[in-house]
Amino acid sequence: MLSTMQDDVPLTISRILRHGTTVHGDARITTWTGDAEPHRTTFRATGERAAQLAHALRDELGVRPADRVATLMWNNSAHVEAYFAIPSMAAVLHTLNLRLPPEQLVFIANHAADRVILVNGTLLPLLAPLLPQLETVEDLVVVGPGDTSVLEGCAPRVHDYEQLLAGRPTSYEWPDIDERTAAAMCYTSGTTGDPKGVVYSHRSVYLHSMQVNMADSMGLTTADTTLPVVPMFHVNAWGLPHAVFMTGVGLLLPDRFLQPGPIAEMIAAERPTHAAAVPVIWQGLLGELAATPRDISSLKTVTIGGSACPPSMMRAFEELHGVRVCHAWGMTETSPLGSLAHPPGGLSPEDEWPYRVTQGRFPAGVEARLAAPGGGFAPWDGASPGELEVRGPWIADAYFGGVDEPPLRPAEKFSPDGWLRTGDVGVISPDGYLTLTDRAKDVIKSGGEWISSVDLENALMAHEALLEAAVVAVTDERWGERPLAAVVFKEGTEPVPYERLRAFLGETIARWQLPERWVTLPSVPKTSVGKFDKKVLRGQYAAGELEVTTL
Ligand code: AMP
Repeated sequence: MLSTMQDDVPLTISRILRHGTTVHGDARITTWTGDAEPHRTTFRATGERAAQLAHALRDELGVRPADRVATLMWNNSAHVEAYFAIPSMAAVLHTLNLRLPPEQLVFIANHAADRVILVNGTLLPLLAPLLPQLETVEDLVVVGPGDTSVLEGCAPRVHDYEQLLAGRPTSYEWPDIDERTAAAMCYTSGTTGDPKGVVYSHRSVYLHSMQVNMADSMGLTTADTTLPVVPMFHVNAWGLPHAVFMTGVGLLLPDRFLQPGPIAEMIAAERPTHAAAVPVIWQGLLGELAATPRDISSLKTVTIGGSACPPSMMRAFEELHGVRVCHAWGMTETSPLGSLAHPPGGLSPEDEWPYRVTQGRFPAGVEARLAAPGGGFAPWDGASPGELEVRGPWIADAYFGGVDEPPLRPAEKFSPDGWLRTGDVGVISPDGYLTLTDRAKDVIKSGGEWISSVDLENALMAHEALLEAAVVAVTDERWGERPLAAVVFKEGTEPVPYERLRAFLGETIARWQLPERWVTLPSVPKTSVGKFDKKVLRGQYAAGELEVTTL
């Protein structure tokens, strides 16, 4: 028996756009511009310019459904226009990660067969040298000021964004499309092997946006303004640009001003109530505020994810600045919202902490299981570890295989019965809280036991002299593997002897897990999206490039 409901109404991005530009037409998008007055616009005006962009792409550049239109852009209102115009006209938005090494950017743009690139003028020096290697790009659209002389003699046609939009109709007959159509694509940051493309559908974006808005996720309302510091090229800025068009939440966009100083200034001046970023950004902001106090009292909550958030940092934000941190877990393959650490109701603030420092609870749309090391699945007992596997309507089922190629389902990433193998190792409590202890490839296997690098890092980062700490496995003759602790001291702080750091760790960590190998670094190597790059660290160790002290 079939339902009597309108099940054929497709869940599309144009539907989100129509809603945002009408019901929430006056909601605001503010883009930081550095020293000048911020650029201000509304959802309504953004929708009109999205329509103009779609007309220009179709009529002037010849973009057809399914063509890939890439963006190499910062977080700004023009990027939001592209976010809605491109999928709504049935083309595919491909956000390029501007922090990737040049050869990876070239690989990605060619693999996705990008037809057009929208590029911020300030990023032309980065793009211009790559153009001779881009095989499929026919048109470049330059957004905002920049030195276009670097493009002289380049093969693609060059257009100015404002001239392209000028005078075009401010409405567009968005086509009715199947909700399973490709809407956007994003390549994984690729710490191993070639980056892999995840292709989001209209349906997955729509359902994920609803989840972002739920009270047990980010729970924002029209009274809020959110500051996505997380780049719009990193998993769609965690879905925030789409989600706010459903709810009328204001957007404050940092453009290219991502250093702690400008972030502190824009919070003080524009008074957002929520923000989202990876831990390194927040660590930097804490230091900045200690050196130069600013009023960040407008911020009620920040969502932190992308790598493990040190509990000491969560406490510092709350105790020093009254900002509540919500820890979250996700991946490019999970759109990214996978879990959020809201504590159960009815607890005292102190009793909430053990829940809040976990990676959080799964929302109803995300099913989870733990593949046990010896086969089968580990119980949700808060103690038995396994590799986390997930499935749900906004979880990847495969990677993009390339033009005219079938999707890729490598066995190490997808189980035979269709679950995503996350590569993250942890435990789940009986009430569904996930605690990650490692990446599967970062686990330290010492004498047949597992040591969690994350536990050691979190414990170290609670030391007042340390800015950063990363722990990796290194080969050890006797134990197979042992932890190597790489520490970064805060600027202007006297280095603390390793024996004292080890004793400090010993207060919370079992003796047999304490590292004997130590190294001090100016900073921990990071990936293009600001996570610790342990592969680089392991490589430096293997090449004998680190000055290691053994206790
Ligand atoms: P990406 O696809 O670049 O966003 O990377 C996803 C990976 O980041 C996950 O598989 C995790 O290893 C890591 N990650 C994301 N959020 C967290 C978190 N809250 N705690 C620990 N690791 C995280």
